[in-house]
Amino acid sequence: MKVPLFRRLSISFFVTVIGSILITSLISNDMIDKRFNEYLSNEHKRKITKVISLVEEIFVQEMDLQSVASYRELARVAILEDLYIEIKNPEGKVFFSSGREHLLHKKMMGHMSRPMMGMGWRKSLGQYMEENYSLTKDGKTTGTLIIGYFGQWNLTERDVGFKDTLNRAFLISITAALIFGLMMSILLSKQLTTPLIKLTGIANEMREGNLTVRADADTNTLEIDQLSKAMNHLAETLQQQEMLRKRLTTDMAHELRTPLTTLKSHMEAFIDGVWEPTEERFADCYEEVERLTKLVGNLQNLAKLEQAALQLNKEPFDLSQEIIKITEVMEPQFRKKNIPIELDLIQELRVLMDRDKIKQILFNLLSNAYKYTHEGGRVEIKLRKEDKGVVLTIKDNGIGISEKDLPYIFERFYRGDVSRSRETGGAGIGLAIVKTLVEAHGGKIKAESTPGMGSTFTITFPQNILSA
Ligand code: ADP
Repeated sequence: MKVPLFRRLSISFFVTVIGSILITSLISNDMIDKRFNEYLSNEHKRKITKVISLVEEIFVQEMDLQSVASYRELARVAILEDLYIEIKNPEGKVFFSSGREHLLHKKMMGHMSRPMMGMGWRKSLGQYMEENYSLTKDGKTTGTLIIGYFGQWNLTERDVGFKDTLNRAFLISITAALIFGLMMSILLSKQLTTPLIKLTGIANEMREGNLTVRADADTNTLEIDQLSKAMNHLAETLQQQEMLRKRLTTDMAHELRTPLTTLKSHMEAFIDGVWEPTEERFADCYEEVERLTKLVGNLQNLAKLEQAALQLNKEPFDLSQEIIKITEVMEPQFRKKNIPIELDLIQELRVLMDRDKIKQILFNLLSNAYKYTHEGGRVEIKLRKEDKGVVLTIKDNGIGISEKDLPYIFERFYRGDVSRSRETGGAGIGLAIVKTLVEAHGGKIKAESTPGMGSTFTITFPQNILSA
């Protein structure tokens, strides 16, 4: 089962908050408790010692516990310290007893004044306990001192109050921390999930075909912002692809329609007897069939080439020599249009590349330069070695490429308007092939152009194409 991110985040945050609070309060409570018990134990010992020394003092000084002053003093101490004090002679006769009334009264008052905290009091005051101490003088037992109190430590009301306040403070701070933690978990989870929900909605809209929507996540979370930008980029790419697909379909239809219409009208004229089926007219029909065959062949070729690009047949050769060879082959054609090919090549550039594919790259680029350059123009090929790699430039001063066409010329079957309107225009796959082959060698290609002034194609191959 898929859990919504909001629930998952808020639960995780909240569990973390509860965990931290529990750990902190357990540790601090335990430490405070230990210190408090230590303090109580010391207090208790101090009280008992005080009573013992007082009794011994009175015993030594007055030898008579029946004296009123000592009786009062002991009774006062018993009430002050919440103790029961009793002194017996060795025979068991009670000399002195402070009485337990004040203790019982205190216990009762505790119940009454804190009905809600009754349990706490009973628990805090604890059971009644007594301790016996032998009173000795000159090595002889002179009596027994009995000290009674409630609870292990004989907690006073102040002690219990202190413990109570401490517990309450813990309870209040835990509750406040929990409420704060819950609020923060919800807030944080909302902050993270709201833009994601928005992005999902936009992605769904795109999926349904609306590629004009753009994500605006309005967030300061880096990753979500990046996701939003990536989605916009994706939408733009999809929009472009959609445009190219539409254009390809219309181009193809147009490309197919022209020869088919010619063929159809010729055939009709033959059938209707309007035209004599002369050799010349058959040749016209054959030419149209050729055009169709070439078109289908191009489609097939591109598919094959893209596959072949992945299987490079690398061999070491001199790239500048290879460029010279290709220009020599193409020179006669260029001469017809009176276009000189100027070379500016670094000498002896040994590379490890697929020779046939390099030939194909150069052939396609030079064919375009030839096609789109007027008579008497000029084409220049440059080969340089730079820090970033090997740079090959093919520059012409032909008709150039319009700003509108420039971003798409490397797309399959994309042809500039100029190319389409001209009979000489190709199928629009030459540059797509060049790009595939350049990238197969790890390189990059870019085109710059000023309409009417010419175009420059720059290929950058990485350093690793160089061979020793
Ligand atoms: P095509 O077969 O139409 O030449 P390409 O893929 O080789 O197909 O080129 C795509 C488009 O790029 C061409 O239709 C043309 O508009 C433009 N183009 C390519 N090279 C040049 C160039 N050297 N000068 C002007 N336009 C060019």
